[in-house]
Amino acid sequence: MMIDYCELAVPGVQSLTPYQPGKPVDELQREYGLQNIIKLASNENPLGPGPLAIEAIQCQLNELARYPDGNGFELKNKLASIHKLQSAQITLGNGSNDILEFVARAFVSANDEVIFSQHAFAVYPLVTQVVGGKICEVPAKDWGHDLDAMQNRITSKTRLIFIANPNNPTGTWLTEGEITAFLKEVPENIIVVLDEAYFEYAHAQQMGFSEYPNGIAMLAQFENLVVTRTFSKAYGLAGLRVGYGVSNNQIADLLNRVRQPFNVNSMALAAATAALDDQNHIDKSVLLNKQGMQELIDAFSTLSLSYIPSAGNFISFDLGFEAVPIYTELLKQGVIVRPVVNYSMPNHLRVTIGTSAENKIFINALKQILK
Ligand SMILES: *Cc1c(COP(=O)(O)O)cnc(C)c1O
Repeated sequence: MMIDYCELAVPGVQSLTPYQPGKPVDELQREYGLQNIIKLASNENPLGPGPLAIEAIQCQLNELARYPDGNGFELKNKLASIHKLQSAQITLGNGSNDILEFVARAFVSANDEVIFSQHAFAVYPLVTQVVGGKICEVPAKDWGHDLDAMQNRITSKTRLIFIANPNNPTGTWLTEGEITAFLKEVPENIIVVLDEAYFEYAHAQQMGFSEYPNGIAMLAQFENLVVTRTFSKAYGLAGLRVGYGVSNNQIADLLNRVRQPFNVNSMALAAATAALDDQNHIDKSVLLNKQGMQELIDAFSTLSLSYIPSAGNFISFDLGFEAVPIYTELLKQGVIVRPVVNYSMPNHLRVTIGTSAENKIFINALKQILK
């Protein structure tokens, strides 16, 4: 090539490493010629979407020639009534990752600083780098956010702080008291994103998760807060890509200026709207997760493996040595989990809680490999 196109790219993109998703089932089938594969690598709901969502998707099939409602009127209305908000406080996204990117694009210029924790969700550095922001990664404490250290990292150049509660891939969570104390110290001109992708799991389980907070209830107290939620996890709609952000009206207006006019497709809008009526499916999913979490924890104890207690639908466990070879051995047995080397956790693997049958297959494979 005569031209090095990499040199033409903006600096943030030149140095960008793409997000590494969990290995798709089809890919493992192609590579290893395996038939029976279970994927416990992307924190998807093993039950899939609920019946109401599926019915809504089927009804939408005949309308696919039409553009979706670019304002997501129905979905926003329903969310507003559930959360006791105004529709104008909501921004819909093509997954909640979309919202994370809108916030960076709306508020972060080149060389502005963005703070997040070590081991935090990999999309935070991505969206920061693309807009030329400066990454300020703060060392974790016991695998979780060290909010005191994050507060001390604030400078006059700080524009944005990302907090994942619970965090992925560590599963660590912060209490209402911890988050409130932190927000009180953050200057109001700094946007704080509270990423609650696993809210339904963490909230509903309350299994010793003392004081797991509802970020949306904190909005009234903190004007600089943006809370993100998603339909990708407990709602089982990851393939459709739909999530949302909640903030004050003015911030929501800015985020809505950044988004593409039809960023959420019509199937996703219909399915998400219907899914909000299907509390039964959420209850079932949360219960299955709680039971599965216990199955995995018991297995880790039997194998003398330490793990990080998790408020999500996944758990990271420590092999005590480099984990990628074990990941590869699991692949050979048709079990896809997630290596987390790129999160500076080379000895850990993250596994999503599956159905009881899937959990057993994973546990048996792991036992065989480690014996
Ligand atoms: C899965 C996940 C998301 C949500 O991604 P979507 O774009 O909504 O599918 C956001 N934050 C964290 C921490 C996650 O693990």
